[in-house]
Amino acid sequence: MKIPFSPPFINESVVYEVIDSLHSGWITSGPKVKALEEEIKKFSSTQEVLCVNSWTSGAIMMLRWLGVKPDDEVIVPAYTYSATALAVLHAGARPVMVDSSDDFNVSLAAIRKAITPKTKAIIPVDIAGWPCNYEQLMKLVQEDEIKQRYQPNSPVQEKLGRIVVISDAAHSLGARYRNHQHTGSETDIVIFSLHAVKNITTAEGGAICLNLPLPFDNAALYHELHQMSLNCQTKDAFSKSKAGGWKYDIVGLGMKINMADVNAAIGLAQIREYPKLLKERKRVFETYNAAFSRCEWAILPPSSDGERESSYHIYALRIRNFTEAQRDRMIDEIARHEVAVNVHFIPMPMLSFFKSLGYDIHDFPQAYANYKAEISLPVYPQLDEEALRYIISTVQEAYQTVASGV
Ligand SMILES: *Cc1c(COP(=O)(O)O)cnc(C)c1O
Repeated sequence: MKIPFSPPFINESVVYEVIDSLHSGWITSGPKVKALEEEIKKFSSTQEVLCVNSWTSGAIMMLRWLGVKPDDEVIVPAYTYSATALAVLHAGARPVMVDSSDDFNVSLAAIRKAITPKTKAIIPVDIAGWPCNYEQLMKLVQEDEIKQRYQPNSPVQEKLGRIVVISDAAHSLGARYRNHQHTGSETDIVIFSLHAVKNITTAEGGAICLNLPLPFDNAALYHELHQMSLNCQTKDAFSKSKAGGWKYDIVGLGMKINMADVNAAIGLAQIREYPKLLKERKRVFETYNAAFSRCEWAILPPSSDGERESSYHIYALRIRNFTEAQRDRMIDEIARHEVAVNVHFIPMPMLSFFKSLGYDIHDFPQAYANYKAEISLPVYPQLDEEALRYIISTVQEAYQTVASGV
């Protein structure tokens, strides 16, 4: 049996929405994008949502809006997908990497230690869809002593008066936190990814949720950022296409990162069915949990603790007491049986580019410990019981083969 890792969920409703966009006479940013923004806003209980063409470009734009400068520091976990730190570099600031906790998410103690007067932002990551401890993190940036050390050097930084928290929620659309609402409103800015492998996709895309405190006006900020995502042009192509609407101005240096309607159509159809799709993902997680909780060598990923619930994006299984080489051999064994698995993530300090910048994996022992034992198993609604049984037995046999050293 051939098991792909993460095929997109494409049914008739998705096809219908895309065809509807193609037939409408308008395929780039317009009514479908607006409708998707409204759906995400409702679903995630956030104040404003702006859709863009990727998580990465959205994060770069938000850091530029924040006005970071070359000497400024942005705290990121060492254990994440590289986009988290690359966005900081593209925006012209310095990523300060910190270690993780045993639940894969960034360590709050490590964040506290890394804060300096140059810290302008913190980007926590909901690894695998498991929400970070946002209540504690938001308390941390509001502590008097930390606020007193903060040195704003842009109008936006001045206005906020503290470190901004921008969550990398690339994995966590659909997760739940504390009040049992879906996540999206816990930090100042929350960015979801709508890339092809994520729970909800527009092929490529991102959604920026705005929850800034007063005196910020999130509705006004939405309009400012919408314009910024379209080259800071005062009129978008949709309004310009109307008779008599030809005049426009360019009022700043923006980016060109808007989402197209034909893309938004995919996500629009998917998010309308998301409660059902999430239940299917949960079913996959629970099937894995039931099987691997009987294996003393398996460390199960966090999925629910009564206060938080995962979006069931990635099943991050860990193998107790395995070395990195054993884990790699186990993946080879699984691949021989045509089950596609992955590793989330290779910590950034182990990648050439970040090494060349001076980051060293020895400074992040927990990130390495999480990485060396991790194997991500396929999770998607289309996986039926037969496929799951095959994946589970393949993984169990691969473990036995490697552990027995044959
Ligand atoms: C996928 C991903 C991103 C990047 O998302 P894009 O939409 O592809 O730019 C960022 N952070 C994490 C943790 C991701 O997994």
